[in-house]
Amino acid sequence: AVPARVTKTNTVVSFRGIEKSYGAFQAVAALSLDIRQGELVCLLGPSGCGKTTTLRMLAGFVEPSAGEIWLDEDNVTRVPAYRRDVGIVFQNYALFPHMTVAKNVEYGLVNINMPKAARQARIAEVLRRVELQHLADRYPRALSGGQQQRVALARALALQPKVLLLDEPFSNLDAQLRVRLREELSSLIRGLDMTTLFVTHDQEEALTLADRIVVMNKGAVEQIGTPEEIYDSPQTRFVAEFIGTCSLLEGRVDEGGDFLSERGLRFPVARRPGAATAIIRPEYVRHAAEAPGAPVHRAVVETSEYMGAATRLQLRVGDARLLMDGRYAPGRRPRAGDEIDIVIDPTGVRFVTDGN
Ligand code: ATP
Repeated sequence: AVPARVTKTNTVVSFRGIEKSYGAFQAVAALSLDIRQGELVCLLGPSGCGKTTTLRMLAGFVEPSAGEIWLDEDNVTRVPAYRRDVGIVFQNYALFPHMTVAKNVEYGLVNINMPKAARQARIAEVLRRVELQHLADRYPRALSGGQQQRVALARALALQPKVLLLDEPFSNLDAQLRVRLREELSSLIRGLDMTTLFVTHDQEEALTLADRIVVMNKGAVEQIGTPEEIYDSPQTRFVAEFIGTCSLLEGRVDEGGDFLSERGLRFPVARRPGAATAIIRPEYVRHAAEAPGAPVHRAVVETSEYMGAATRLQLRVGDARLLMDGRYAPGRRPRAGDEIDIVIDPTGVRFVTDGN
């Protein structure tokens, strides 16, 4: 059967102090991460942050400059790619165009000298898993993007890898298909209890798919956490600004328990006195009438951007700038130049620990 491995708490992949340098340039710095059996972990960050390099080090295509990589009980740091139990789905799927779906899946099985009867059984099983049995004799060019992706997945799963690696698997697809395949792939991988490391620069993809997200920036890990932890409690400015939208306010908490921004915005917070950088997500800024009791600020609407379900307002409060998401009936949307009364929901204010 396709992977059914031991218990949930087992660590399958362990990056231990991994680094990768190209000359003086450090592509990945001090990365330590354990991935548990059946866990779907996402490497998330902007272009050039070191995600793909990290994935390729686990695959065995790139040798780390320092540190160790363990797979199950084995130190695989110096083990060649073809001898690691790792399945990979590349961004462009890399299917063999002159081979049918079944032959594409069979290729890796021939390479490990699996007998023919066993190969046929394995091909049938993985194609059934990805619901492509009926297309076994098609060529890749006669498949949709989503179907090609499932062939690539079947080919990776056929070898029953310990870990599945996905490198931006949705980047070639249009927005609607992306969302549908994301759900399909996620339920498929979870159904198989497959340990998965996934690379993306798309925050929404990471938030919806991952059990845990590793946010990377310039080769370094900024934060590791569940999607909720990453979105709701960002630890650094970078994470706060990269995941979702927020207003960052520099300032200090005074003895009376008020945060006072450098630009004069004041509101109560639960935090010790001292310098602080506050983060406020736009959904925590509300119209005063919706939250009676909290201190009211008069704001000028600078821009009003219709986004469908919500409208994003850029507000000026005194000298400070604040983003707000509001929901309005048709025709009731505030416009640039309007003045509105707002409150900041104190339960939505967070503080980042870097800077101050
Ligand atoms: P993207 O989303 O654009 O693929 P990434 O986060 O996956 O970005 P990597 O491909 O891991 O980034 O690259 C990290 C950094 O290492 C980049 O600045 C890249 O230019 C550099 N780099 C990667 N491979 C090499 C190499 N062989 N020689 C020199 N520099 C390299």
